[in-house]
Amino acid sequence: MSEAICDLPDCKKRLNMGHGVWEGRWLPTYQMTICTVHINASPEGWAPHREEFLLSWLQSKNLPVPKRNANGLLPFFA
Ligand SMILES: [Zn+2]
Repeated sequence: MSEAICDLPDCKKRLNMGHGVWEGRWLPTYQMTICTVHINASPEGWAPHREEFLLSWLQSKNLPVPKRNANGLLPFFA
């Protein structure tokens, strides 16, 4: 069992990862780990109030901003 930390600044929860327990997901597009809770709460994409954080996160890592999905939201997986 390994552990990860949710990268959302208002969360930072410790997540168990592995051995059939996956409390978080690694998002390659953002080089970020987040709780499955956040993904399941908003399956259509990132909630708009997260975008300011996401865009500065992507910029700090020199990652491209993914194309918005059909709902006009930034996707978790691009
Ligand atoms: Zn979280």
